[in-house]
Amino acid sequence: MPVQLRFDTGLAGAEYVTRELWRRAILPRCPLHPRGGCGLARHGSYERKRPAGTRVARWYCPQGHRTFSLLPDHLAARFPGTLAEIEQVAAAAETASSLEACAHELRPEPIGLPGALRWVRRRLAVVRALLPLAVTLLPALLQGCAATVAAVRARLQVPTALERLRVLLARELHALASPVGLRHRRRGGGDVHGGLQQHMGPDPPPTAA
Ligand SMILES: [Zn+2]
Repeated sequence: MPVQLRFDTGLAGAEYVTRELWRRAILPRCPLHPRGGCGLARHGSYERKRPAGTRVARWYCPQGHRTFSLLPDHLAARFPGTLAEIEQVAAAAETASSLEACAHELRPEPIGLPGALRWVRRRLAVVRALLPLAVTLLPALLQGCAATVAAVRARLQVPTALERLRVLLARELHALASPVGLRHRRRGGGDVHGGLQQHMGPDPPPTAA
């Protein structure tokens, strides 16, 4: 499982596939060896099934035996698809008469209702975990804001909130859980980013060239 880092695409998510923006992703230095000399090299890209045609750029540090990937801002971490898709499910659940009704309405073909309920609950749970944290972490923007998709969208004046939160919380992503956060846990429970962040902290995020 690669360590995921943020790829600031400048909100160009809609053009990510057509412009093949993963080819322009740049990792200026190794997060483990910021002074270089470790042989960090581009390591191709890997495919994500959705949205169709999506690829994610990847690097490999031979000295640290670690793979890094640059996840563009519109994609969910550790979930298939986009942040907007996850947000849509959570937003629908907020206004649905019941989770069953919401699951019935939104369920991806061809899963049955029990599977659809799990699908909705999993997305709702991660959004419900994130929003109160976002309100706390962004007091200047979200103080007093209800921790709901609708309220956060309205406060931020954006049609979709999660992708905006990926940007606004850029400095906290190493500590935040997926799908917005990029927290990485090593097998055995160690936290890679704890060490990485000391190196990565002062640097701007990787950007599209
Ligand atoms: Zn390295």
